[in-house]
Amino acid sequence: MSLIVQKFGGSSVRDAQRIKNVAGIIAETYLEGNDVIVVLSAQGDTTDDLIEKAQEINPKASRREMDMLLSTGEQISVALCAMALESMGLPCVSLAAWQVGIKTTGAHSQARIRKIDSERIRSELDQKRIVLVTGFQGINRQGDVTTLGRGGSDTSAVALAAAFHADLCQIYTDVDGVYTTDPRLVPNARKLDEITYDEMLELASLGAQVLHNRSVELAKKYHINMEVVSSLERKPGTKIKEVVKMEKTSIAGVAKDTSIATIALKGLEHAPGVAFQVFNMLSKNGINVDIILQSFGNVDDAKEISFTVSRKDLDDAVKLLTENRQQLRFKELETDDKIGKVSIVGAGLLSNHGMAAKMFEALYNAGINIQMINTSEIKLSVLVHEDDVNKAVKAVHARFFDE
Ligand code: ADP
Ligand code: ASP
Ligand code: MG
Repeated sequence: MSLIVQKFGGSSVRDAQRIKNVAGIIAETYLEGNDVIVVLSAQGDTTDDLIEKAQEINPKASRREMDMLLSTGEQISVALCAMALESMGLPCVSLAAWQVGIKTTGAHSQARIRKIDSERIRSELDQKRIVLVTGFQGINRQGDVTTLGRGGSDTSAVALAAAFHADLCQIYTDVDGVYTTDPRLVPNARKLDEITYDEMLELASLGAQVLHNRSVELAKKYHINMEVVSSLERKPGTKIKEVVKMEKTSIAGVAKDTSIATIALKGLEHAPGVAFQVFNMLSKNGINVDIILQSFGNVDDAKEISFTVSRKDLDDAVKLLTENRQQLRFKELETDDKIGKVSIVGAGLLSNHGMAAKMFEALYNAGINIQMINTSEIKLSVLVHEDDVNKAVKAVHARFFDE
């Protein structure tokens, strides 16, 4: 007997038919003699629809009230799926994250799981019940509902797998595994049988929507046996593990992210501490910065610092920087939200310089201008105009996988 955590995403529980299909998968796992904890996302586009409803009433609604609203989607899914299991005569119970005791940090809309109480779930499992838990949410120290960021149900599943020492955490979705790039954009993308935690973490962080990046971080930390599988077809998916069998000759995949924007600070004083002040202020105000480029401007002895932020943080960042212009010692601020990031990820990237040249050549041949470049041990990202992002993914993917 094993303990298995099964997570089903929004499209897998889209309507009654899909919920019955999911109940069938859960039933099969349970009837094989396993303990099963199920994590569900909101049905179909429910979360987007709820956001739209909020926008109609108050586009500046507080994050606390947004969390109250968005967390309801998952509650519908677990209740409906429990009903489907009940109709099959299977013992089950649906629980909202606050009933379980999924404790998070306080930051509404981007909370992190701190700890999961085990008593309630343990006692339900001991009574041989299938436990269905709402994904994407928890409660903070004030007892208020929090959410974990878009796509966060994957993280709920892995956190539960870690808390209960599950033998396996299965992420069921609408594709049959992790591909070398989004198969909806590049139909001949290849399915990976396995991928390392590190590569998957980079792909997820760089925009591959198939897994929430934090879920991979947790899976690596707690050595969770994790796989991405299709809820619609029975076939092997992709295993995410510490080490993969084959010696890699190419990259693992290509990812894109169009949810970013750049900010350029111009005419900055060329003195120690300038960069520290800017980035310290941003970080203290909860604004994450990704790629940073510093260069000398044309004017006097001044320098320029350009960096990327999440597009949703752009207005807050600009307001903060502009209000503190004197103190931060810059003359002008420019923004660009018509950009996107295209990245390649692979364990051997840094030790294989040919990879970077190959990527740049593919972009050059496609006539795409690179605005910024960023590298790390296992990834290489470029910023390009937003309109060029899909073309860039296709060109780079073809260069690495079709030739
Ligand atoms: P769920 O609702 O099940 O959580 P998501 O929509 O969050 O599903 O993630 C699945 C989607 O991720 C796929 O439909 C696919 O279009 C997209 N995707 C992006 N990059 C990849 C990739 N490298 N491999 C597989 N799917 C990817
Ligand atoms: N329903 C949430 C979202 O759409 C969480 C998830 O699907 O993982 O972001
Ligand atoms: Mg998802």
